[in-house]
Parts: sequence; structure tokens; C-alpha cells
Amino acid sequence: MPELPETTVISEDVATLAGGREVVRAAVFRPDVTNVVPEEFGRRLVGRRLRGTGRRGKVILLDFGEVVGVVHLVISGRVLRLSGWTEPDRTNTAVLEFEGGLVLAFTRLWLGYFHLYEPGELDGHPLISRLGPDPFSDGFTPEYLTDVFRRKASVKGLLLDQSVVAGLGNIYVDEVLFAAGVHPARKANTLHGEEIRKVHTATRDILRRAIELRGTTFDSYHDAFGETGKFQHQLKVFARAGGPCPRCGAEITKSRVAGRGTHTCPSCQPL
Ligand SMILES: [Zn+2]
Repeated sequence: MPELPETTVISEDVATLAGGREVVRAAVFRPDVTNVVPEEFGRRLVGRRLRGTGRRGKVILLDFGEVVGVVHLVISGRVLRLSGWTEPDRTNTAVLEFEGGLVLAFTRLWLGYFHLYEPGELDGHPLISRLGPDPFSDGFTPEYLTDVFRRKASVKGLLLDQSVVAGLGNIYVDEVLFAAGVHPARKANTLHGEEIRKVHTATRDILRRAIELRGTTFDSYHDAFGETGKFQHQLKVFARAGGPCPRCGAEITKSRVAGRGTHTCPSCQPL
């Protein structure tokens, strides 16, 4: 397929461009990008008019009347205007065509999503009312982490909590805590300043690397962990239980922390 000329639009422009227009076609690339089955994604949007848009942090709200689109761009996501309809793919994760030939692509939603809700479900939605800062935003600082780590919850549980930091999944949290040398089951309020700074740095480093690798290859789409891209080949501890720690050679163990399968090096990440 030839490269389409495309323009980045900021989310505020979505209202200017598409406000009042009816959706004529809509599709998503991967089932995990949305909260409805992919066929339903189009069915629920086609024939509806965009009445307005809103923003809460990096979450864009698209008001289609009886349906509200909740788009979380997280780190890599952008909204692009395409020159014509194109089927969703690894880059154009969700595509909407409006009447008049306007095509908007919600691109690179590798950690993000395009959910559909009924308006009544929205206000109490935890992700919207209490979404934590994006890991690359100015609000995500060591000081911010120091503040949220005053709680007694496990450090892994807190990092998985989307109201603490947006967009960190199970795999990333294990890799971040390995890189920081912090055991996932540690109570967050026992971490000292240097450890918190390491967690902060590792979060950005690992997510940046994951995004870069997904950006270059998406071929092994949907591996055993439901993850995409080549980043799984760079994992140091995740899914490596029984194997040697790449740093010290000790055997990587698997346990359960915060209700999730958790991979640690007992020697590099003492409890
Ligand atoms: Zn080790």
C-alpha cells in the first residue's frame, strides 16, 4: 500500500474537524485495543454523530450521544488525519471515517486503547476520574512517587494501579522493578530515596525501549503473553522463571504479588 500523506491533529482539533459529522465507517486493529468485540466497534459507532469532545489528562472523550469513545493515547498514541480510508493496521490502530471523506486514525495505541461506553457508565469510571500521570509527563517525578509510596501496599501493586501511574502493565512492572533492584513484594513505604529514583528512571527507560521496539517490528503480534512487538526478546526476568538472572546468574523465581504472576531475581532484588 502506498504511503498516505498524513497530518497530526491535536485532540482539540478532533471537534473542529469532525464535530457534527456522522461516522460512516469504523474499525480497530486488535481486539485488546477496545472493550467490545471488534465487529461491535464499528456497529456501535456507524450512523452516530460526533457531538463534542473532551479531555481528562491524556484521555480523550468523544461524545457520540448514546456512545462515548474513551481514547487513551498513553505515550506513543497520536491522532492523524489520513487522506482516505485505510484498514486499521499496526500503526493506525483504530480508524474512523466521517461523512465528507474525513478519516481520522488513532495511531500507535500500543499501551493505550479506544473504549466505548454508555454515557451513564462514564462518570464513575475509575480510569477517567482517577487516572494517574503518564510516565513521560511532567507530573511523573521522583517526588510524586515518593508521595504515593507512603502507602503500605506492595510496590508492584501500586505501580500496576492506573490511578498511580497510567499505562504500566504486568510485564513492564516486573522489568522495571528488576532494573531498579527492588523486590515487587516490598511495602512501598520501605523504599528509600535512591530506590525510588531508580524505579522512576527504570520506568521511563523500559517504556521508551518497549515503544521503540514495537515501533520497528510488530510482526510477532500477539505472542503468548498477549503482548506485541519485539520487546519480549529483551525481557530480563518476565517469563524467565527457572532460568539464570542475566545480571548475577541466580535462578529467577516466579511468585504471586498483587494477584499477578511475578518474576524476580532473589539475589538482585532481596526482599
Ligand atoms: Zn540477579
